[in-house]
Amino acid sequence: MRPIQMVDTKTQYQKIKEEVDSAVIEVMESSAFINGKAVKDFTANLNKYIGSNHTITCANGTDAIQIALMALGLKPGDEVITPSFTYIATTEVIALLNLTPVFVEVNPDTFCIDPAAIEKAVTPKTKAIVPVHLYGHAADMEAIMAIAEKHNLYVIEDNAQAIGCEYTFSDGTKKKTGTIGHIGTTSFYPSKNLGGFGDGGAIFTNDDELATKLLMIANHGQSKQYYHDVVGCNSRLDSIKAAVLDIKLKHLDEYNAARRTAADYYDNAFANNQKIKTPFRASNSHHVFHQYTLQLEGVDRNGLKDFLASHKIPAMIYYPVPGHKQKMFAHFNASSQDMPVTDMLTERVISLPIHSELDDEQLQFITSKVLEFVNN
Ligand SMILES: *Cc1c(COP(=O)(O)O)cnc(C)c1O
Repeated sequence: MRPIQMVDTKTQYQKIKEEVDSAVIEVMESSAFINGKAVKDFTANLNKYIGSNHTITCANGTDAIQIALMALGLKPGDEVITPSFTYIATTEVIALLNLTPVFVEVNPDTFCIDPAAIEKAVTPKTKAIVPVHLYGHAADMEAIMAIAEKHNLYVIEDNAQAIGCEYTFSDGTKKKTGTIGHIGTTSFYPSKNLGGFGDGGAIFTNDDELATKLLMIANHGQSKQYYHDVVGCNSRLDSIKAAVLDIKLKHLDEYNAARRTAADYYDNAFANNQKIKTPFRASNSHHVFHQYTLQLEGVDRNGLKDFLASHKIPAMIYYPVPGHKQKMFAHFNASSQDMPVTDMLTERVISLPIHSELDDEQLQFITSKVLEFVNN
């Protein structure tokens, strides 16, 4: 059996090595390391894949959210509603820009922001909502967009974990996550579903005016060379990384399908086990399983993690501390907030290895060891 890893980027690379290597060499020979043809090609292909009017690539997924927020023209102290149960990058940039993160609960089934909790958190200072398509499952975008419209709020979708996920509206219309809100963002961090050779990110919008601002902000606030209209930053995707991503993009649907097959295997193995709640799949979301996350009931989670580790099976807790309890947000008094769902999930979740390269032998071994511990 091949060693089991949380993510197996090496095996994935070996399968496309020739293509990737020659694309990288081509960039090196062209020496167009910044904003070269590879960046233009990848940006255009990604824009087409996701079904957006505009795509702007940038240095990483955290920058993507930061640039998106900067483009909204918000004022210090404006409130941004976001889930507490997410990776820190989502919420950190809100505070970095002197905006106020307002943490709300998630749905205990989908792990995504709860629209009813958003509605309750809206105040006259609220300016935006940042939902996260956590673990590869779409947030309830139809409800979120309705709340945003009602209160005149911007929506920035943090799509770092869900590239390729499709959301179905109640009228049957389908859209890729990241293209439904005013702005969508994603990350090409190596372990993401579209993982690059290093950091990378992208921003999506259908709004021409926002697209112009986003592009400007990502490039030193520059409107034409050496004319800087607004304060921006320097956030670029390198040509070599873009060349690799352009090849991987062609395989993205296949990679996501392989993740779903692995998830099906896990689901079947754990079905009807009273102590294990397998991930929920809402009918409006095509789950792309960035993570395969169980909720344990009456199981010693650390004991399970250690037991799996003793059999060389990695497992992770995403995330051990929710946003409202992070020290960096202490001055917002967020920790005094009552968040029973988030606190419960924080104590119960465990993520098993999931990626495009898992085989049945590995899955059989992982599931048998999980069940061995849980049923003892
Ligand atoms: C990975 C991730 C980010 C940030 O992406 P980076 O490229 O690592 O900066 C943001 N939000 C979520 C939910 C993520 O998982």
